[in-house]
Amino acid sequence: MKQNPSSSNGLGNLKWWKSLWGLSLPPKIKIFLWRCFNGWLPVREVLMRRGMQIDVRCPLCHCFPESGIHSLWFCKEIRKVWNSWDTTTPLKPGLGWSMADLLIHAFYKLQNEDFLLFCEILWLVWSNRNSKVFGGNCKPVPQLLTWATSYLEEFQQAMASKKVVLNQARQRKAGDRDKRWVPPDPGVYCVNVDASFNSRNGVFGTGFVVRDHTGRVMKAGYKNHGWKASVEVGEACAIREGVLQAIEGNLTPFVIMSDAKVVVDTFNNYRLSCNDVGMIALDCSILLKNVGCLGIRFANRDTNKVAHHLARLASSESYVQYSWRGSVPHEIIPFVLADVQALS
Ligand SMILES: [Zn+2]
Repeated sequence: MKQNPSSSNGLGNLKWWKSLWGLSLPPKIKIFLWRCFNGWLPVREVLMRRGMQIDVRCPLCHCFPESGIHSLWFCKEIRKVWNSWDTTTPLKPGLGWSMADLLIHAFYKLQNEDFLLFCEILWLVWSNRNSKVFGGNCKPVPQLLTWATSYLEEFQQAMASKKVVLNQARQRKAGDRDKRWVPPDPGVYCVNVDASFNSRNGVFGTGFVVRDHTGRVMKAGYKNHGWKASVEVGEACAIREGVLQAIEGNLTPFVIMSDAKVVVDTFNNYRLSCNDVGMIALDCSILLKNVGCLGIRFANRDTNKVAHHLARLASSESYVQYSWRGSVPHEIIPFVLADVQALS
């Protein structure tokens, strides 16, 4: 049972904080709340106090100095989010309040589940603000509430099935010892994908190869995307490209194999990821609707050499895209053969 705090100033209220720490929220959100609570969010008012020469006005509304509570609650752009959710109507923070005051206030005013959702939304609002400031992808305001709800549901399901996940991780570890390419089941195509980054100009290339259960190449290709990307975004684009190529070649059902573990995990839980990779994964999930994709899976780097070398060919060129039906460029043949030989 929640009890009201004796004062709403709340700073240093470790007991209160401990009960918050025990809530079913992802660690990154708890850390974010901890920063809010302590006034450590790098909002413009804080940066200015630290001596940075900076326009102190809020980057969203350009009207008021950007404090923590302004950026997360009072800003008229953010009011659209909160006004779309009736549950926050009882929250009436005063103008001079800090984020610590608001968090404590919400903790005591809202039901447990609603408070969790409130925290998720705060975090999404902050992520969105950062995307706006640093030029990433912003989500439309009406989507934030839906996004937060599914994020929370998935997190709680994930916690419930933590045991299963742990067992799977153990099995994967055992599988890592096997460094050979693993063929798909008969009748299924295996799509290996990879990305490669040109250290000179920073642009990246992606490669893909679609094979059947005997190791026969059905289709292969590479593409230089002509722009710079983070490793994760490059790997996510490789997956997307593999999906497109398999669909376009009618090579279904298929499994996608990528050696970028973190990216594969994001694709399998894209609702949890409010970042560029999450957006690409979301886009892919739309492509994959009603298509026979049996999964996007992690492959050990050693089992992914054909796609890796195709991607490397791409990254050394610029703005190109090639694909071949039933063959690969001659430089790639040794890697295809090595995979087939390892089968027998
Ligand atoms: Zn504002």
